[in-house]
Amino acid sequence: MRLEGKTATLSPTPTLPYPHTPILPYVDALTNAHQRAFRQDLLTWFASVKRDMPWRRTDDPYRIWLSEIMLQQTRVDQAWPYYERFTEAFPTVEALAAAPLDTVLLRWEGLGYYSRARNLHKAAKRVVEVFGGTVPDTYDDIITLPGIGPYTAAAVLSIAYGRPHAVLDGNVMRVLTRVFALADDISSSRTRKALQALADALLEPAHPGDFNEAMMELGAMVCSPSAPSCPTCPLHTVCAASAKGTPEAFPVKKKKPPVPHFDIAIGLVFDDAGRLLIQRRPEDKMLGGLWEFPGGKQEAGETLNETCRRELREELGIEVEIVDLFHRVNHTYTHLKVTLHAFRCRLKQGTPTPREGQPIRWVWAEELDDFAFPRANRRLIGALADRAHNPTLFDR
Ligand code: SF4
Repeated sequence: MRLEGKTATLSPTPTLPYPHTPILPYVDALTNAHQRAFRQDLLTWFASVKRDMPWRRTDDPYRIWLSEIMLQQTRVDQAWPYYERFTEAFPTVEALAAAPLDTVLLRWEGLGYYSRARNLHKAAKRVVEVFGGTVPDTYDDIITLPGIGPYTAAAVLSIAYGRPHAVLDGNVMRVLTRVFALADDISSSRTRKALQALADALLEPAHPGDFNEAMMELGAMVCSPSAPSCPTCPLHTVCAASAKGTPEAFPVKKKKPPVPHFDIAIGLVFDDAGRLLIQRRPEDKMLGGLWEFPGGKQEAGETLNETCRRELREELGIEVEIVDLFHRVNHTYTHLKVTLHAFRCRLKQGTPTPREGQPIRWVWAEELDDFAFPRANRRLIGALADRAHNPTLFDR
């Protein structure tokens, strides 16, 4: 990692709160100007621009933790209504721990990344059972909770308890790599450890929560990925990338391989009464615990009709007659893209018996809202509702 254009005027480096890789040379090269800009100028700026958010009006560690989980991969304006509905349904960690997982997933539906909700629920149970209902206030304890990694641990400890732990998320990495013009690949774990050491050294130990929030806010509001507003930035006097006129060149990140795409055949299987078959995904799989229409991935050399019939045979031991291709939905996850091809099917033979033993139900279309579905399945449900209002000749 290179540090460009900075003079090594040493000032005391704070003691790190937990062990990292050895402090790298550029951390020792922090100048007084850096420390002042990062601590004083940044906090003064933050006090003047701090946005009002419901989780900033509380010092309840449970609510601060919940907000941090919701804000992962999610914008503030998207998370906001979910946070309010969730805290209304589960106002305390005890209430969340006591709720059935299905109810929790239903409240989370639409927010995506459902492992966050499942882990939050598991973690709430652990907080109640092991920590007497109090969110742990030490790094060693809080990091044992499901779904809490170094970022969330540092955020909750600093914001809720004032503990000196620096956060390192995408916004903070962008600010740090620009201020120091660090040209190393930020997708490497070595670079991230080094950046964590740098963030720890810069942290204002007297106000760690505000410092962390200020860094994240600066990355979100001023030091944006493609159009940083350097003239209004509290760090512009010490920022190497701004001085070079190349802030957008940082951070440096290796290109990811292209996201794979899969065609999925889905069976909307109706029984003689007109009810639909749904099944619950195994908890240890992607979107675990959510309900879905059965189906699976197209294999080489198969038509989608064949995929649909094979999947229903393999997954549930049933034979179906395909009526028609009802609807298509394209959906993008972080690591893959799918096209769902939903076929309306009549049950011809067999009783649905899930191969992996997961729960199944026959439900009326109006009952689908009582179950938590992944977003792509929910779009199919929307198409079913539209069709119910505008039936085709076949539907009548
Ligand atoms: S001066 Fe510009 S590039 Fe540097 S931290 Fe501020 S906004 Fe980002």
